[in-house]
Amino acid sequence: MYVARLLYPLRVLGPGKRVGIWFAGCSRGCPGCSNPELWKQDPRYLVSGDTVLKMINAIRETRGAEGIDGFTLTGGDPFEQPEALRELLPRLREISADILAYSGFRLRELRNRGYRDILDQLAVVIDGPYVESRNTNCFLRGSDNQEIHILNPALEERYREYLKNGRNEVQNFRTRDGFISAGIHRPEYPRELREALLAKGVTIGGETCGDETAPEHTQNQH
Ligand code: SF4
Repeated sequence: MYVARLLYPLRVLGPGKRVGIWFAGCSRGCPGCSNPELWKQDPRYLVSGDTVLKMINAIRETRGAEGIDGFTLTGGDPFEQPEALRELLPRLREISADILAYSGFRLRELRNRGYRDILDQLAVVIDGPYVESRNTNCFLRGSDNQEIHILNPALEERYREYLKNGRNEVQNFRTRDGFISAGIHRPEYPRELREALLAKGVTIGGETCGDETAPEHTQNQH
């Protein structure tokens, strides 16, 4: 399977402290997508399901069994790797049934494609392509054409409460390559971030004002 990154504790894409799993590969090409670097299934992202689980178990060992409240699957589009989902989901569910997945496909398309067995293992799906002109900063969604579907009745109350009180936030992770900014960003966020970093003397894509590595941005638009 192609998995580009795994971040913990992710607090801005679902309730609690979550493991965020970014799948590589998306053929949709939404204009304005903030993760075009994850459109391609680059061989360097190829990992086994065992490796992904090993990383998750390492988190559990340091944080304890209660350390993971759920999982958020994004990318790229996780549903462009249905076999990877079939392999991973039962193993993730042994840790938490709260698994939220983003997809550029509509829920009905996922059903029609024969992915009901995958959907049955998910708590929530946020579906539909990202439409830049409809980025209205709606909670958890990159654009307001997308819909949040709560699929697991056992988690319905938890999500209803979470959605009632929630507002979009951004969370920055420091990685070996720089920074990754996770969450739902306003369309003007990349420009504002760029200006703020340049003002602090950070180098961005060859625009030199300092000597640090360019930050990598990631957000969930789909
Ligand atoms: S916004 Fe999501 S669905 Fe659209 S191209 Fe980017 S990763 Fe794919």
